[in-house]
This record gives sequence, structure tokens and C-alpha cells, in this order.
Amino acid sequence: SLTLADVDPELAAAVQREERRQEDHIELIASENYASPQVMAIQNSVFTNKYAEGYPGKRYYSGCEHVDVAERLAIERLKTLFDCDYANVQPHAGAQANAAVFLALARPGDTVMGMNLAQGGHLTHGNPSNFSGRHYRIVPYGLDPGTGLIDYDAMERIALEARPKMLIGGFSAYSRHLDWARMRAIADKAGAVFWVDMAHVAGLVAAGEYPDPLPHAHVVTSTTHKTLRGPRGGIILAKGQDEDFCRRLDSAVFPGIQGGPLMHVIAAKAVAFQEALRPEFKAYQRQVVRNARAMAAVIQQRGYTIVSGGTDNHLMLIDLSARPYTGKDADAALADAWITTNKNSVPNDPRSAFVTSGLRIGTPAVTTRGFGVAECEHVAGWLCDILDALESGGDALTAMREQVREQVVALCRRHPVYR
Ligand code: PLP
Repeated sequence: SLTLADVDPELAAAVQREERRQEDHIELIASENYASPQVMAIQNSVFTNKYAEGYPGKRYYSGCEHVDVAERLAIERLKTLFDCDYANVQPHAGAQANAAVFLALARPGDTVMGMNLAQGGHLTHGNPSNFSGRHYRIVPYGLDPGTGLIDYDAMERIALEARPKMLIGGFSAYSRHLDWARMRAIADKAGAVFWVDMAHVAGLVAAGEYPDPLPHAHVVTSTTHKTLRGPRGGIILAKGQDEDFCRRLDSAVFPGIQGGPLMHVIAAKAVAFQEALRPEFKAYQRQVVRNARAMAAVIQQRGYTIVSGGTDNHLMLIDLSARPYTGKDADAALADAWITTNKNSVPNDPRSAFVTSGLRIGTPAVTTRGFGVAECEHVAGWLCDILDALESGGDALTAMREQVREQVVALCRRHPVYR
């Protein structure tokens, strides 16, 4: 039979090069991870061929008995994982899970409060360029400029004045615990629904390594591919809500914003949730946090500033605003040394989101490939070596880049991702 290389050599070669890149580069993008071979394998199954609009047992198409098994397993495992009683596993991605919550629980024009994108929030929490910012009246909250921590007093003041329909908790670039109970109290006082988007920390929450929002939030959304280490996708969860509330969420996903669910991805979610229920997953998440702390300590010892002074989760934001180069420069210099990060705005960043004055790094991917504290300390040291050299400029950077890249590849080869 014909292989992909026979029928589409260009794409086969691109995949092969990407495999090599993932093996030989150190992945510090905080939202990325390596799914298991089993999670990847089931996405390559015949489930991809099946239309299954509707929900298990209530489909609009025949022949759904086997994909129903997959969706029911995904739902049940997910409810066990997060100790909750409602789960929807159909959102194609995190953004779709969030769109469904907006559709279910607010009307266009309603006031909604979310964390400012420039201070750690996500696009779908009300950025003007996103559907959320276009169709809803967004009132952002943010950080205390002195501490880099969320300013709950200001949040409360804004909420009591704006009376939002929903208060969104959750972030893409914040390295501390959130006080879910405090946020729920603020939402209650303001008469708002409290919605938590735990996309970044879902794996940590599942393992008990980050405060659990489910006892506090009316509704929780997440991606499945970050710390949770599943396939790319989204989920919606709730605990203790009435049937009508849950039905609104289901019908917002389908038929509200989606057509046929991606049954091969839902099956892969089921596999990932089973993996996450194993004791090894808890140990993995514990190591993710330990590794992040170890990296933060080295970076701070080397004289670099971390927003909020450190990390309690899997990520941190390095503030480069006092340096003579930008977040974009730092990202590019590290990429040349085969360390992958992303430029990121820091609080009150004077530069645009395309340039920025910060770098976001995280440990989920390197921990999956087996890096412990010692390896992460080395990586943090190399990262600082590159940033130091970037500041010196010229030949220093070229030499350092070669030196670091060699060590990066050697370390990666000792910790293969898939082989
Ligand atoms: N919510 C948060 C907090 C995120 O960080 C992200 C992705 O970075 C998303 C939602 C969106 O997820 P997706 O990229 O799967 O649409």
C-alpha cells in the first residue's frame, strides 16, 4: 500500500522535520506538551470518518453506537478526574468551549469581566480583537503594579460598579495561585456568574497541585492539550448546577456553535483522561511545579526579574523591560540556540504584542520528556547565558549560541520524547 511519503512527499518531509525538531529542541512554551503515543494513535483511527451530531444516545445520525462508547468514556473519566457531575467533551478547542459559555450564559451587549490580555488574560476573555470583545461589553481587571499579583480589591470595586453578567477567572500568563473563593464571593456580591477557564492549570488541578476551582465556579472550561497532556481540544465542566443550566451549556456547544463533533479527538480525550487518573500523572504534575520553581530560582539568581517574584505553577514571565533588547529579540536568540519560548507582554508593557518586553516559559513539556530539577537548572542557566550574550551583542552571541545549542542537543538526546 502507498505511504504518505509516496502520495504527498512534501508533507511527509515536513512531518519528519517536525519530529526531529521536537526531539532536538528544548520546548519551554508553557502551553505545549507531548501527548502520549496512545493519544496520538487513536486520533489516527476510523473514528475520524464518523458524523455524530448530538450527544451519546441522542444522535442525528445512525451508526453511532461505537463512537458513543468513546464519548461516554470521555465524559465519565473526566467527571471522575475533576470530581464533578457535568462534563461536555465536544468543544473543538479552548476557544470554542469559551464561545459556548458566552452563548449559553450571556447575551450580546452584556457586561463581562475578564483579566486583561496584556496582564495575563486570554484573547477569549474579552480582547477587542476577539468575538468576546466585539460582542460583549468587557470590563477588564488586572494586577497590582507594585506586586505583580492580582488586585482583588480593585476587582471587587470594578465588579460592584460594573455589575457584570459573568466574572471570568483564569489566565494564560500568571504564575501564582488564584483565590477562587474570593472571586466567587466577588461574583456573588455583584450578581455575576463565576466562570473559570483553567486551561493552563487543568493538569495541575487534576493532580491536586493547584487550587481546584470546581467547588467555587458555576462553570469551568479548559483545553485538553496543555498541562492536561491530551489531544488538542476543549471541555466544559460544572458541579452542583441544575439540569437547565447544564442543558444550556450542551445546546450552546451543539447546535449553538459547532456541527459534528471530532470523534477521533473525543476518543483521544478519553485515553488522556484515563492516563491522568493514574498515580504517575500526579507525580508528573508535582515535578512540573518543582521544575518551574527550580528554573525561577536560577533565573532570579542570575539577575533577571520574574513578574510577581516567582512561580507557584508551571509557568513564569520574565520581565525584560529594563534590558536593551525586546521580548521578540530574546525569543529569536533562544530559538537560534534551539530553546523554544514565546515573547509575551509584561504588565504595563510599553511595546506592542508583536514585540513585547517579556518572555513566557513553562515546564510541562520538558518534564514529560523526563527533565528533573538538575536538567531544568541547566536549561535556565543556558537561557540566561543567551540573554546575557544578547545584551553584550556581536560575536559573544554567536559563540554562545553554538555552545548552548550543542548542550541542548546532547541533553535532548539523553531524554528522547518518543523513542
Ligand atoms: N483559555 C486559555 C486560558 C488559554 O490559555 C488558551 C490557549 O492558549 C485558550 C483558552 C484557547 O485554547 P485554544 O487555543 O485551544 O483555542
